[in-house]
Amino acid sequence: MYQEQTKTFHCDICKKQIQAYEVCWTKWQFPPKITVPQDMPIKALAYQNAKIICEDCQSKVFVKEYQSL
Ligand SMILES: [Zn+2]
Repeated sequence: MYQEQTKTFHCDICKKQIQAYEVCWTKWQFPPKITVPQDMPIKALAYQNAKIICEDCQSKVFVKEYQSL
């Protein structure tokens, strides 16, 4: 999630702040064509208030999913 007051991104599960260059999972819209620039500007993620999950939580979620199969 994007926090308007601090202008920072936080993990939707553990609420920790996502640091610059940190690997994380977020909603990313595929470009319709290979020729379309694939950069997702910070502004777009902030505007959409895109869900963001840090790497730690992502691995936990995946393990949980696999165990329930
Ligand atoms: Zn997290």
